[in-house]
Amino acid sequence: MLRAKHALAGFTLACGLVAAMPQAHGYAIEVHKDFFDLAFGGTPSTQTVTPPTAASLVEFRKFVYGQAFTNADFRRRWPSEASFDAAAFKTFLQLNPGKTVVAIDVVPAGRATDVRTVVREGSVDPDNDYRNQDRLFTVGGQVQLDAFGRAVPQDPRTTWFGGLTGTPSQFDGHGATLRTGKKGSGIWTALRNPSQFARPPVSLGSAPDFSETYTNLAMIAKLWGGQGSEWFALTFGGNNLHGIEDLGNQIHTTVLGTPKFFIDAKWTYYKIRMKRFFKKTNDPSSAGFTAPASLTPAQVNEAMVKIKAGQEDQVDKQVLFALGKEPKSYPTDTDLGIQIIGNHHRLLEDFVQSLYLSSRDAIAAGRPQDARDEIKELIRIARAGDATFEAECRAALASAGLGTKGKGETPYSRVIAELMITKSAPEAQPIYEAIRKVSKKSLKRDEIYNEELGHKPLDFMQTDKTSNKHVRKIWDLNGKAFARVVTAIRLWDETFKAETAGVTPGSPAALARANSIVDRLVTRQLTRLDAEEQRRTDYLAEKQKEWDALQKPKLGLIDRITGWFR
Ligand SMILES: [Zn+2]
Repeated sequence: MLRAKHALAGFTLACGLVAAMPQAHGYAIEVHKDFFDLAFGGTPSTQTVTPPTAASLVEFRKFVYGQAFTNADFRRRWPSEASFDAAAFKTFLQLNPGKTVVAIDVVPAGRATDVRTVVREGSVDPDNDYRNQDRLFTVGGQVQLDAFGRAVPQDPRTTWFGGLTGTPSQFDGHGATLRTGKKGSGIWTALRNPSQFARPPVSLGSAPDFSETYTNLAMIAKLWGGQGSEWFALTFGGNNLHGIEDLGNQIHTTVLGTPKFFIDAKWTYYKIRMKRFFKKTNDPSSAGFTAPASLTPAQVNEAMVKIKAGQEDQVDKQVLFALGKEPKSYPTDTDLGIQIIGNHHRLLEDFVQSLYLSSRDAIAAGRPQDARDEIKELIRIARAGDATFEAECRAALASAGLGTKGKGETPYSRVIAELMITKSAPEAQPIYEAIRKVSKKSLKRDEIYNEELGHKPLDFMQTDKTSNKHVRKIWDLNGKAFARVVTAIRLWDETFKAETAGVTPGSPAALARANSIVDRLVTRQLTRLDAEEQRRTDYLAEKQKEWDALQKPKLGLIDRITGWFR
């Protein structure tokens, strides 16, 4: 009985770790941009493109609508051209309609128009404009609240792999777990096969789907040939690269990382509980953290800006409650697990970025003697690419129909992205264990590492002799990841060019090909939107059931016994 109870407690923790990716940015902004240079030589591009005007943003959307409208299911959702405004376009693409998204709402003023800049910036727009964050279910301008008064996610999937708001809420769009193999949501999978752990036990994360969507938009824009067409194609192409690059990063393809974090969290949890055994817990509801009567997307946006600026205390308490951010009297084992994984996630990414950038800058400034040897080696390995991975990608693309199907019909971005996951996921546990070996002990307990709090990664690492082995492992696995990413984006670029070749943009043949890509995009997005709605219906029903169960007076013996086994 004791053992069973213990395992169940562990099960709760493992499940909770699904929401374990605070501040997950994938590769840091500058590293994302550098992949373009690592793949294509890094010489400043002298070729420029014309950016779209505000009117062209509308024209491009109308072009998509003109073909999408021929689909009856699409027409039911958006019956007129006027109904398909910028917010609707974002809803269709499963982006947050309340965020200002590059190439849909705006063309950033002051962005240089050379090809290199347009692609590099496009590759970081999905991080910078928050398009995948805070997607909440909104009806008639009101964020919908569940029976408990908590904000309802637009797609509960974002909470399975990430979180409801903030940076964790973009993790679904910027990561993905293995598409193959048997998933498990129990303690045994968590401990013995963490790369297959998921709850619910399905493939998590949508990064490959977003990359495919952006690739479709890039091809459509290129073939459409209207004003700003090249800029659109390069920007959407860059958006697509973002997802492929994030999936190269091993820790974006796993929920748990390593079971060692799980044990760290358990150990810390019991230690804290022992220490605070006699302390009273306080009830946040008595301090005003209660369900709000209503909530608007503007209130959520305002709250998230303040929270990110460290001013959570200035946010309305009811808004905090609706977002699940009321103060907790002491952390649960799940909270601790999330925090410990988050610590190591951020530490690893910041460590890699800071060392990479300082050496890269030294080389660029003509001082290669000041660059670290391991970074020179990383750059060499990245530029060389990964020939084995390339061959595997080409084989996968051929079997997906590339070269035999009509141009524009093969989902090549998704194929490349999913193959990337199969390489990255098995490396997640070793790289997490390597960073765990060199992190300060306190980060495996209840201390927080976060660069946003002014922390420097090296201050949170142990740098004794034995740590060298683990640091070498980190660079070795980063070299593998960088080489894969460079190979993938070269291959994507080659395929994109081939799939849009042979026709003059704007010609009838080009428009026919563009329209067939719109058809494919519409079919896929409608399926995804239907699935999202179904998940939301299930989610709301589940919350209602939980709420109803709490309202029932629990007097009977049966009720009490059932309670034990929940
Ligand atoms: Zn990202």
